Amino acid sequence: MEKLLSSDDIKRCADFDENYKIVTEKIAQAALKSSRKPEDIILLAATKTVPSQVINYAVSKGITHIGENRVQEYLSKYDQLEGATRHFIGHLQKNKVRRIVGKVSMIESVDSVGLAAEIGKISAENGITTDILLEVNIGMEESKSGFSADEIFEKTEEISKINGINIQGLMCIPPIYSEIAKKCSAFEKMQKLFIDISGKKIDNVNMRFLSMGMSGDYDLAIGFGANIVRIGRGLFGERN
Ligand SMILES: *Cc1c(COP(=O)(O)O)cnc(C)c1O
Repeated sequence: MEKLLSSDDIKRCADFDENYKIVTEKIAQAALKSSRKPEDIILLAATKTVPSQVINYAVSKGITHIGENRVQEYLSKYDQLEGATRHFIGHLQKNKVRRIVGKVSMIESVDSVGLAAEIGKISAENGITTDILLEVNIGMEESKSGFSADEIFEKTEEISKINGINIQGLMCIPPIYSEIAKKCSAFEKMQKLFIDISGKKIDNVNMRFLSMGMSGDYDLAIGFGANIVRIGRGLFGERN
C-alpha cells in the first residue's frame, strides 16, 4: 500500500534532490580524473533508516542500486520497495541467511567461510546462485569483521569451490582516518588485492566489483579503482 509522505520525508526528498546532483557530479569528475567512464561507477544508495517511500522517491529519480544493512529492517520495507537492484551490505549472521537469499541480488558483506557456505547451501536449495563480495578488514580493526589482507587469497580460493555462490569482487569499510594519506593507503591496498586476485584467474571467481567509498571519501575511493560507492548521509542527510 502506498504510504503518505510525512513532512520529515518530504524534507528528505527535497534534500535528496539537491544531494543527488552533487554526488553524481562528483562521481563523474572522479571517474574522468582516473580515466574511467562515469557510467562505470555504480552509485549504491545506503538506505538504512531511510523509509521505503523516500527510497522509492530516490529510485524514481534515478537511483538504480540500494544497499540495506539489517535483515529485519530490509524485510520490513521489502513489500513496499519498488524496483532497484538490492544489495545486502551489513554484517550478516548465519541464522538469518535463509530470510534474505533470493531477496537481494548481491551480498557484499561476506566475512567468513562459514557464512559463504551457508549462503551457498541455501541458494542451491532454492535453485539459484547468489553473487557475493568478500569483505576485507583492511584496517585490521578489532571492531570490524572481514578477512585480513594476508588471508584473502587463500579464502577466495576456498570459497570459490562452494556451490550456489559466485564471487564478484571485494568490499571494505576502512577505518575512520582523519588523514587523507592513510585513507588513500587503505584504498590502495584494496586496489592491489583486487588486481592481484583478478590476475589469478580462479575458477568461479569474476572480479568485477570493488565496493569502497562512503559519503566522506567516495571520490578518493574512485581514484583507487572503486566501481561501487555506497552513500547514505551524502544522499539522504544525517541519520536520526
Ligand atoms: C551506512 C553504510 C554506508 C554509508 O555510510 P554514509 O557515511 O552514510 O555514506 C556504506 N556502507 C555500509 C556498509 C554502511 O553500513
